[in-house]
Amino acid sequence: MNLKYFNAPISETPFELSNDIGSCSICKKNNSLRLELDGSIEIIPQTSELIEIVCIECLNEQKYGFEHQVEGGFLTKEGVLIKSKKYEYLKNNTDYFSVLQPKEQKLLAIEKSKLEDLIHTPPFNAFQGAIWLIHCNDFMKFIGNWEHDDFVKHSPNNNPKEFFNEIVDNWNGDDFYDEQFGTNKSEYAESIFYAFECLHCKQKRGYVE
Ligand SMILES: [Zn+2]
Ligand SMILES: [Zn+2]
Repeated sequence: MNLKYFNAPISETPFELSNDIGSCSICKKNNSLRLELDGSIEIIPQTSELIEIVCIECLNEQKYGFEHQVEGGFLTKEGVLIKSKKYEYLKNNTDYFSVLQPKEQKLLAIEKSKLEDLIHTPPFNAFQGAIWLIHCNDFMKFIGNWEHDDFVKHSPNNNPKEFFNEIVDNWNGDDFYDEQFGTNKSEYAESIFYAFECLHCKQKRGYVE
């Protein structure tokens, strides 16, 4: 699937082609990929009718959108909500002014048409919900889950570990790459790296879960 903010296999979205899922609540059809809403994903409907199942065709036709978690906050039915407004206590963190507040300001500076484009993008599958990163005044494009080979392929100086440490948003310590992604990774390694590319300068970033 190749959208402005999503370039990865459709299997990395929560949409499924399954006979167990009923027809789309909006168009009443059952011939495209569908998603049964279970409360973990919130849509932004334009109608007041009860919507339990949505299809990918109706998404493409912008008949509904998704609420998203983004760097610095949330895109909700009511608009942009910065993280420290939802969780006031975050303002008391010692690194609030150096870490979170700059992210919130970047989010607030994004123009409305880009918010609309992201709302009409499906989330990618992530254990704790997809979070979209930001670069060059825009949301970044999700380009899939990276493994060691992907870091080797993209690292500019053939040093995947250094490249990982450079682009990962939630750094977990110096040995993290070796333990979770490297050629000698632990047999218990379960971390996933969600990779993004900037639409404007091609910078890569990502985060681990
Ligand atoms: Zn539909
Ligand atoms: Zn950029």
